[in-house]
Amino acid sequence: MNKEMFKLGSQRSIIRELFELSKELKNKYGVDKVYDFSIGNPSVAPASDVDKTLVDIITNESSVYTHGYTSSQGDNEAREAIAKDLNKRYGTDYTLYNVYMTCGAASSLSIVFKALTESSEDEIFAIAPYFTEYRVFVNNSGAKFRIVPADTNTFSINFKELENMINPNTKAIIINSPNNPTGVIYKRNDLEKLVEFLLNKEKEYNHPIYIVADEPYREIAYDGIEVPHIPSIYHNTLICYSYSKSLSLPGDRIGYVLVPNNVDDSKNVFLACLGAGRSLGYICAPSLYQHMISRCASSLSNIKEYQDNRNIIYNELEKIGYECVHPDGAFYLFVKALEDDSYQFMKKALEYNLVLVPSDDFGIKGYVRIAYCVSKDTILNSLQAFKELYNYYSNK
Ligand code: PLP
Repeated sequence: MNKEMFKLGSQRSIIRELFELSKELKNKYGVDKVYDFSIGNPSVAPASDVDKTLVDIITNESSVYTHGYTSSQGDNEAREAIAKDLNKRYGTDYTLYNVYMTCGAASSLSIVFKALTESSEDEIFAIAPYFTEYRVFVNNSGAKFRIVPADTNTFSINFKELENMINPNTKAIIINSPNNPTGVIYKRNDLEKLVEFLLNKEKEYNHPIYIVADEPYREIAYDGIEVPHIPSIYHNTLICYSYSKSLSLPGDRIGYVLVPNNVDDSKNVFLACLGAGRSLGYICAPSLYQHMISRCASSLSNIKEYQDNRNIIYNELEKIGYECVHPDGAFYLFVKALEDDSYQFMKKALEYNLVLVPSDDFGIKGYVRIAYCVSKDTILNSLQAFKELYNYYSNK
């Protein structure tokens, strides 16, 4: 058997590990006594038209339409609806030929990494802190995974480190904004600076350097803060999108890759994505959900609930004395651990029934992530435990 795959299968990610552990704790202490902030499972119901549309399709359409294979690249109506929705929002001119339906962002990313890289010398950069699974997906493509260390002042792009690391083998850089695990949204200024930098490097190395924009949290942005549409400012951008968070459908596995026309050689890059999907066995995203998207591409869950949660948890933890990165989007709060070893801090927090994810696997030490996509009651009830945890460290 493949030892690498065995390792991946036998060691769960720390997030999954904690998610399972919190189930055990809930059995032991009671559901309302355990504050599980481990996993980014949306707590808000899907937009109401999503379920209605699914029922309508199941009730009124033929089973071949509902459950049969679509084309490998996806159902034309779904692809067209997505292109139209993006055009309305960003003033672009996408068509169905720019959209490839996938089984969520995980498959979008795996497909894109496979499509863009060819040799073990090729490198894909992620900016710390980053979504833990990038490493797995990049490794599977055969390329090298390189981590740009975090800028702990801004938690945006660390240009100094990026400039030191970039080299002729750099094929792509992943941009995830709003970010998991910090909730930070990269500002237009920073993205424009990145674009200028990459354009120069493309010229110098004489090959494309892609931005892979991983955007499952694109719509979850608070206080009217802008999430810039990166393909409008940089030509070689591919978007990996998912409806897991915006429509609260993480278990239904639906998303897409967008390959805009201004990507160099875009038609062939699209075909390489199609080939990568084929080689990975990801062809034909779930048909029922593709059909739903063809009617609900502009829908959105009630993200206001996340903003309310953000306001409570950020303000209350800061009041207690915790140092938090201010989140403008997604549903994560990144908090400085109260000891250097975030793993030990996570263990101490567990004694107070607080399930927090240590930051090491996000590519930075000394923090924990709080996924606040939980009920408001869970947040309110957890505050006493956060106070007690803080007092424990203060009195040490
Ligand atoms: N990218 C980021 C930043 C995520 O947070 C997640 C899931 O939490 C994914 C990708 C994977 O999303 P999906 O469930 O749609 O595969």
